[in-house]
Amino acid sequence: MTDPITAALHHLPAPRCAYLYDTTALRTRAATLRAALPPRTTMLYAVKANGHPDVIHTLASACDGLEVASGGELALAVQARARRIVFGGPAKTDTELAAALTAGALLNVESTHELRRLAALGVNADICLRINRPGSPLTGSHTMTGTPTPFGIDENHLPHVLPDIPTGLRVIGFHLHAVSNNLDGTAHARFLTEAIDWSRRTARTHGIDLRIVNAGGGLGIDYLTHDSIDLTPLSTVDVPDDLELILEPGRYLTADAGWYAAEVLDLKTTHGRTFAVLRGGTHHFRLPAAWGYSHPFTVIPVDDWPHPYPRLTVHDTPVDAVGELCTPRDVLTRNQHVTHLRTGDILLYARAGAYGWDISHHDFLRHDPPTFITL
Ligand SMILES: *Cc1c(COP(=O)(O)O)cnc(C)c1O
Repeated sequence: MTDPITAALHHLPAPRCAYLYDTTALRTRAATLRAALPPRTTMLYAVKANGHPDVIHTLASACDGLEVASGGELALAVQARARRIVFGGPAKTDTELAAALTAGALLNVESTHELRRLAALGVNADICLRINRPGSPLTGSHTMTGTPTPFGIDENHLPHVLPDIPTGLRVIGFHLHAVSNNLDGTAHARFLTEAIDWSRRTARTHGIDLRIVNAGGGLGIDYLTHDSIDLTPLSTVDVPDDLELILEPGRYLTADAGWYAAEVLDLKTTHGRTFAVLRGGTHHFRLPAAWGYSHPFTVIPVDDWPHPYPRLTVHDTPVDAVGELCTPRDVLTRNQHVTHLRTGDILLYARAGAYGWDISHHDFLRHDPPTFITL
C-alpha cells in the first residue's frame, strides 16, 4: 500500500474505478526518447493517443510541440501553449484549416482537393504534403500507407500534383507516417533513412526547396510482454544539415504513463469458466477488445470488507476479466491465472496511457465514467 498508485486507489470510494496518469513518467519517457534521436530531429507528441489536459500540458513542454488531427485537438494544443503544432488528417474542414493557420500550425495536406480548398481560402503558407507510398516499409498493428487507405496522396500521382501547386502554397516537406506500433527498432531506423532519401530525391526531381521530412509516429510497445521498440538504432540515422526530421509518436510517449484500475464487483463460474466482473470495462478501456488481445493485469488486494454477506474468493485458477456492459464482448483479459482474488480487490492494468480512454465508447450503457487521477 505504499506505492503512489495503490495509495491513490485506496483513497477512492468503493467501488473503485480510475485512470491514473503519471506526469513524471511522461517527462522521463520524453527525455529517454529525445536522448535516442539523431541531431536535427524534432519530437512532437501525437495528441490522439491521450488528450487528457494534464498529459497534453506535460508533453507540450517536454516535447518540441504537438501533432493534432482535429479542431478539438488543435484547441487543446493552443491551450497547452505548444511551441510547434503540426495539423494533419484526411478530412479537415474549412473552419479547422483557418483555425490551424491562425494558430501558426504547419499543415500536412492530404489531397489535391485540399490544396485547391486552401487556395480558395486565400491561404499563403509553407505546407507539407502527406504521401502514401507503395509497399509497406514496416510491420505493425495499423498500416496507413502502401495499401489502399484514405491517407495522403498516392506517390504515383505526384508527377501531376507537384508541378501544379496553387499560388500561395509552398511545399517545403513531406509527411510519411506509415504504421502504428512497430516493434522493430532496426526496421524503424531504416524507414527513417529511406524517408529522408526518398524525400530528397523527389524534391530534387521536382525542384522543391525541401526543409522538412516528417516520418510520423509508430514507435511500438508490446502489450503482452514488458518490451518496447529498441530505440538504439534510431541514433544512427543521418539527418542532413539542411533538413529537419520530425517524429510524432503517440503510443510510445504515453502508454507506460497510464494505468486503468477497476474493482471486482462479482466472481462467478458459468459452464466451467470463472469470471471476474468489474466496475468498468471496454467502454473505458477499449484497446484489448479493439485489437483482440488479452491485456495483462495485476491484482491490488483490498483488505477492507465492510459488508454483512460473505466475500467471494477464488484461488489458483484462470479468470476472464470482464466489464459491466451487457455484451459478451466486454472482455479485457481472457484466461489469466490468479493465485488469490476476492470481490473488492482491484485489477490494475498497466500500459493503459495510450489509446485507452480516448478510443473508448464511453456512453454505451451510460455507466459512470472512471475517476481521473494525475500523479
Ligand atoms: C496516430 C498518428 C500518429 C501517432 O501514432 P503512434 O502509433 O501513436 O505513434 C502520428 N502521426 C499521425 C499522422 C497519426 O495519424
